[in-house]
Order: sequence, then structure tokens, then C-alpha cells
Amino acid sequence: MTEEYERDAPASQDLFDRARAIVPGGVNSPVRAFRAVGGTPRFMARGEGPYVFDVDERRYVDLVSSWGPLILGHAHPAVIGALSAAAARGTSFGTPTRGEVDLAEELVSRTPIEQVRLVNSGTEATMSAIRLARGATGRPKIIKFAGCYHGHADGLLAAAGSGVATLGLPDSPGVTAAAASETIVLPYNDPDAVTAAFAADGANIAAIITEAAPGNMGVVPPAPGFNAGLAEIAHRHGALLILDEVMTGFRVARGGWADLTERAGEPVDADLFTYGKVMGGGLPAAAFGGRTEIMSLLAPGGPVYQAGTLSGNPLACAAGLATLRQCTDDVYARLDKTSAIVGDLAAQALAAAGVAYRLQYAGNMFSVFFTDDEVRDYPAAQSQDLAAFKAFFHAMLARGVYLPPSAFEAWFVSAAIDDAALEIIAAAVGPAAEAAARAAA
Ligand SMILES: *Cc1c(COP(=O)(O)O)cnc(C)c1O
Repeated sequence: MTEEYERDAPASQDLFDRARAIVPGGVNSPVRAFRAVGGTPRFMARGEGPYVFDVDERRYVDLVSSWGPLILGHAHPAVIGALSAAAARGTSFGTPTRGEVDLAEELVSRTPIEQVRLVNSGTEATMSAIRLARGATGRPKIIKFAGCYHGHADGLLAAAGSGVATLGLPDSPGVTAAAASETIVLPYNDPDAVTAAFAADGANIAAIITEAAPGNMGVVPPAPGFNAGLAEIAHRHGALLILDEVMTGFRVARGGWADLTERAGEPVDADLFTYGKVMGGGLPAAAFGGRTEIMSLLAPGGPVYQAGTLSGNPLACAAGLATLRQCTDDVYARLDKTSAIVGDLAAQALAAAGVAYRLQYAGNMFSVFFTDDEVRDYPAAQSQDLAAFKAFFHAMLARGVYLPPSAFEAWFVSAAIDDAALEIIAAAVGPAAEAAARAAA
């Protein structure tokens, strides 16, 4: 079945062959390479609403949404309109521009942050937030959790979930022992481990960084009170809490996970926040922010250096702002409903086929784990049946549904998914679940 379909993607195959000759692994970000599922990555030619079309002119319902950013679907008219208008005015000036101010005001109005600095990628946002936390506290170490991904900066690559998990890599060669020694990696959802780490070395810990709700080991929501407890223990020891909302920010609610938990009566007193993905509307834009007292330590006003030639790029700001302005509470309600429908379709089909599965949500992000057990941490995510996922993935792909090509990723719906797209998913899940049942270990 898979092999049959592979022969049906000749244009992707041809491009992949050309790419592999000159680009390592043929891709510019590892998880795109289909290593975990096998076969040829589809080279996409265009997108339209809920669909992507590959270079062989095959259409797929897109449940990756560019790994989160395309919350409105592909080529949304408001985004393309704003982008075209911005492009016509010029692409970059290396000076401040109005669009940066408009986007920054939008970010601040939606989130707990008072000041924000724009950067180009989530990696830059977390890296800069950590530098700032170290500058603010005068301490060297950070705590991160196994299975949380915060981009590919050296000190954050330990037990980093996502692409690292997909490829089964331990930690990356090229990260020095010195860099690694300043990162304390703890099990996720385990407050006692955090207490013990602070008891052992609290005076050296600058910050805890955590995904607001992890989506990079698959979706593993924080246990009730976990994030609030992190803020409490960090502050007790004079350290900061960095809530990484690069994935969740503006994706799960108007203001991200912090907004969602605040509305649920469980506010989290974090000090620094990082954003990316949705706020760039499909272009490279990301940000970090927090209280003015901390953010004012950044250059040029303060001593902590941080900069970027293309930071606050006019095209990225235009696409991001146009996207956020469309993201009303109604849109989030629609995303919640769509993700519930898609999750239920998968769950019912897997149950009917007798495949072990577990559906986990964080707002409208969700994952289907191929295991019976609740997934509360990284080892639990790793214990799922990867052969079953692989078969499920390829059967969905063959029926026109594009899932993340890894069992350690969130499925991302867009507001463009309509009844016609849902019907395609509904028709695919049954045979895909049967394929998973045949492949199950
Ligand atoms: C995607 C992601 C990053 C890295 O962002 P890039 O733009 O890929 O550098 C950081 N943190 C989280 C939680 C992410 O999901």
C-alpha cells in the first residue's frame, strides 16, 4: 500500500533526489524528512484554505498547518492582502517601522507581558529570554523538562522532544559539556524533582523554562497546578519562570495558554514569555516579553545584548498582525469544535479497529498516542507503538490527509477546515485504523 503510493509521487521523488544531493538529508528542518515514517516527503506546491497541494497535484487536508502557524488555513485573503500591500512598500529598512509598533501593541494587549522584543524564530526567542534571565539574576543554570522543545540553541537541546525524539537522537554532538552542564533536565509533571533540584543548587539557578503546555513530545498538558507551582518555587529561590508559548501562544486562545488558564481560574505568575509560530502568520516572526522591570535590562537601555538585522521585518509584522486581527474568540471556539470532531473521528475508528490509543488535548492542539496509558511525561510518550503510527500515517496520506510525519507532534487544525474537509478525514480514518491494527506490535 505504502510502496504503491510512493510510485505515485514522482515529482516529489525527483525533487527529493535533487535536494538530497546538495542539502543534508534533503530538508532544511529534520522532521520534514519523513525519517520516522519512511517514504518520500511530499513537496508542497501551494495551499488553499484547509488544503495543501503537492508537486504531483495531489490534494491533502492539512493537519500540520506549517507546524502551527497557519491557524486561518492557507493563503487567507486578509493575510495575503496585508502581505502584498507591505511588500509593495518595500521589504526591509533596518529602521523602526509602524508595523512593529502595531504588532507589539497587539501582543501586549493579549498577554500578561508589558514589554516585548521581536525576533525571527522561536529559537531566538527562547535563547534571548534565557540570556535575559541570566542577566537579571546573575546566575548560570536553567531547568528544562525532558520532552519539552525550546528550539535548537545549545543549552536547550538536552532531552528535547520533537525532531530529536523523532530521529531517536540522544543529545546533539557539538553541544559542549560546559553548555550542557548549565542545563538541569528534569522529568515533566514532577514537582518533587523541581523542589529537589532547587534544594541541591538553588543559588545557581537563573530560571525554569517550560512549554506552557507541551506539544513537542505529542500533546502532554501540565497537571493541574504544575505551572503555578513552578512559578511559586522559582520565586521562592529568587529564580524566574519562562513560559514558552511559541506553540501555544495565540493558538489555543486569544492570549495563549496563559489566557486559557487564567480564564479557568488558574493564573500562572510567569516572568518571561516566548512567542512564535501563529504570531508570524506563516512568516518568520517571534517574540519574547515580560515585565518592564526585566525587559528594560535589554540593550540599548540596559546591559543585556540582543539584536537582529531582520527583526521586526515589515512583511512578517504585516502577516502576523493580519492573522492575529482575525483571531477572535469566535475563531477559537471554531478551532475547539473542529479539533474535537477530528479527535473523535480518529478515536472512534481506532477503537473500532481495536488499536490501543490515547487522545490528549491542550486547548485545540491534540495528539493521538498509540498506547493505552495516560501520557504524562516523555518516557510515556516514547513507549507508544510507533509501527502502528507509521501505518496509520501512510494510510491517511494515501487518502488525502496530511498528518505530522511523527508520533511526537501535535495535530494542528485551522479555522479553514470545513465540512468537505472533515468528510475527507472521516472517510480516511477507518481504513487507516485498520492499517494500524495490522501493523500494531
Ligand atoms: C517551535 C518551537 C520552538 C522553536 O521555534 P522555531 O521558530 O522553530 O525556532 C520553541 N519552543 C516551542 C515550544 C516550539 O514549539
